[in-house]
Amino acid sequence: MTSLTLTIDLEAIAANWRALDRLSAATVQTAAVVKADAYGLGAARVVHALAVAGARRFFVAHAAEGIALRKVLGPGPQIGILTGHLSGDTELIRDLDLTPMLSSIEQITRNLEALPGHPFGVQLDSGMNRLGVKPSDWQAIAPILLAAEPALLMSHLACGDDPDHPANRAQLAAFHAMTDGTGLPRSLSATGGVLRGPAYHFDLTRPGIGLYGGLPFADAQPVVGLSLPVIQTRHLEPGESVGYGCTWVAKRPTTAATLLGGYADGLPRSLSNRAILWAGNQACPLIGRVSMDLITVDVTDLDEIPLKLDLLGPEQGIDSLANFAGTIGYELLATLGQRFDRQYQEVSA
Ligand SMILES: *Cc1c(COP(=O)(O)O)cnc(C)c1O
Repeated sequence: MTSLTLTIDLEAIAANWRALDRLSAATVQTAAVVKADAYGLGAARVVHALAVAGARRFFVAHAAEGIALRKVLGPGPQIGILTGHLSGDTELIRDLDLTPMLSSIEQITRNLEALPGHPFGVQLDSGMNRLGVKPSDWQAIAPILLAAEPALLMSHLACGDDPDHPANRAQLAAFHAMTDGTGLPRSLSATGGVLRGPAYHFDLTRPGIGLYGGLPFADAQPVVGLSLPVIQTRHLEPGESVGYGCTWVAKRPTTAATLLGGYADGLPRSLSNRAILWAGNQACPLIGRVSMDLITVDVTDLDEIPLKLDLLGPEQGIDSLANFAGTIGYELLATLGQRFDRQYQEVSA
């Protein structure tokens, strides 16, 4: 059976976690963000690999994502919920011992009333204006809330991937203003913030994309590979076109290969006439439009046509491919990972 398979290197994910962990002091704990099914790569397998590597704290977006995590982790490791305590999630949070990062006065009230004594964190808005308690509200409720001993005070950087953006310093200052003197554990940084240096590390860092080999962690080991099978080749004379809309026209005698994989598999249609595929280290341009299940590639310059061409591999990582499509590695991973079969390279014990 010909199947389309995304290969996922769990050892590389573990190595990336260790590398990000080494970027902060030994006193700073490094958590792992595994929301959206570990950025599309399969939360159960990824979390197991990270736990073996030494990760003890994890974050997901939704309480329901905690089910798979708790099954893999067993009791003990902390599972934080980044959207906090949403109505309807109380039982899950209690029964699976999840730690909601409460992000509004409404959530704080809900949590303290429904689950008194249950561990929670508080998400503060230091300027991103997405989630979190605003500074003025925090000033009002902090004296009461601090007595309930939050497990974590956290906030999130809007521009952590941009070293020069003034928002980073502004958010850092705002976070200090809201949390200095509380004596509670604090966390500000995702992958980008880890790279901004010790001032941004506090007690806990929360990298996600860097674990999966994505920017802004330029030193990451690549994690995913994707090779697409060639199912036909044909010869084209100059003037002949390829694919829907006849958007690509041969300028020279051309050998065109048709490969399995299309937008139904999560390949962005915006790769049409833009992406490169690789035969080893030889570049082969994608020609014509990406269709639902197929793409077409110019393989004229190859001496021999291989069984498969690499879309993600040693020559091209997720960010380069995302660039062709006008998107970011995060989005590409989250879509590809959900659609393709996954084949895991195990962590060697
Ligand atoms: C997604 C997310 C992270 C991880 O971000 P990366 O950029 O993938 O490292 C950390 N914290 C919060 C609040 C998030 O939403």
